[in-house]
Amino acid sequence: MNSRDLRADFPILSRTVGPGAGKPLVYLDNAATTQKPRRVIETVDRFYQHENANIHRGVHYLSMNATDAYDRARERIATAIGAPDPAEVIFVRGTTEAINLVASSFAGDRFAAGDEIVLTVMEHHANIVPWQLLAERKGLVLKWVDVTDSGEIDLDAFRAEFSGRTKLAVFAQVSNALGTINPAREMVAIAREFGAAVLIDGAQGVPHGAVDVTELGADFYAFSGHKVVGPDGIGVLWGRRELLDSMPPYQGGGDMIERVTKEGSTFRHSPERFEAGTPNISGAIGLGAAFDYLGEIGWETIEVSERDLLEYATARLREIDGIRILGPADTGSKVAVISFTMDSAHPHDIGTILDTEGIAIRAGHHCAQPLMDRFQVAGTARASFAFYNSRDDVDRLLDGIHKVKHFFG
Ligand code: PLP
Repeated sequence: MNSRDLRADFPILSRTVGPGAGKPLVYLDNAATTQKPRRVIETVDRFYQHENANIHRGVHYLSMNATDAYDRARERIATAIGAPDPAEVIFVRGTTEAINLVASSFAGDRFAAGDEIVLTVMEHHANIVPWQLLAERKGLVLKWVDVTDSGEIDLDAFRAEFSGRTKLAVFAQVSNALGTINPAREMVAIAREFGAAVLIDGAQGVPHGAVDVTELGADFYAFSGHKVVGPDGIGVLWGRRELLDSMPPYQGGGDMIERVTKEGSTFRHSPERFEAGTPNISGAIGLGAAFDYLGEIGWETIEVSERDLLEYATARLREIDGIRILGPADTGSKVAVISFTMDSAHPHDIGTILDTEGIAIRAGHHCAQPLMDRFQVAGTARASFAFYNSRDDVDRLLDGIHKVKHFFG
């Protein structure tokens, strides 16, 4: 398949945006959420038109079929991320809920006052605030790892934050604000030297390359379906089976119990233990379809296409005076996310003018305020690419930026 064919798989990409006849959409906000291919849209649509029923509880045809489809989606995702056992794949709302689950059921259950959690200044707020809340509640200490001037993790600086009290390290596989690819395996190895558990926030890792949780070697891995061409409201927490089965439930309700009496309840094992209540059935099935679709395209095709876009866009942006690109200078150490500022224009002005040209980028702090503080900027403009973008999209972005320059000087 070439990039032209892939683009045609995404119905929304052929629309125009803005007043009047509008401008053809150039969608460069993929780090916030990706667009959905027809395969995913039709899978969710078919479920509601023909297959809808609640899972697990029914003995009737539709319920049993829906249960099978939900279980198959779990198996499909386990295979896609290299999980040895589908029972290690827990369906949650997204990365945010996955991290909160670990904070509550794992760290909340076993950490004590004075225990330390290592995290980096490049984390998304979803991988900061749950730890701050827990630290406040339990008297834990958060140890912050700074980034280099090029927005990367220095492994010695990372190691320096560990001590005999470190119980957990949490970090993004890929920075949402800069695109930096972190040396996850090396970071896991350092945490292991200190006997600490590891959670990897894979929200920006899963969309850009093949993930193998076994190879990464962490204890927990979290991601969101909507960032990987799947539906929103569905995501995954992967965890090591033995850890999951030793953790108390996150929420109580139907489907997660073995037996409920007036005196108390006993609980099922993972994944049911952590999936109280009716889950997002169509979302899980849609996410399975998303991985089917990505599997057919192949990660190599995706990576080659995104690398070309990153290199082309970076080279063209570097030709423009007054643009500062934040993050690694070497495009080999980052995914196709370009965060930049302009001397003459505020990020929101850049975003607003580009929008009048039909170009969707993101402007602001990208839910990474500690990182913005580190670089002493209030925010950046961020163009984030997916494999269905094209060099034409980059050219339109550059035309838009020239318009911003013309406007603001
Ligand atoms: N972590 C990272 C690195 C992200 O980029 C995001 C979303 O942008 C999140 C966590 C939170 O994801 P969600 O809002 O889907 O839970």
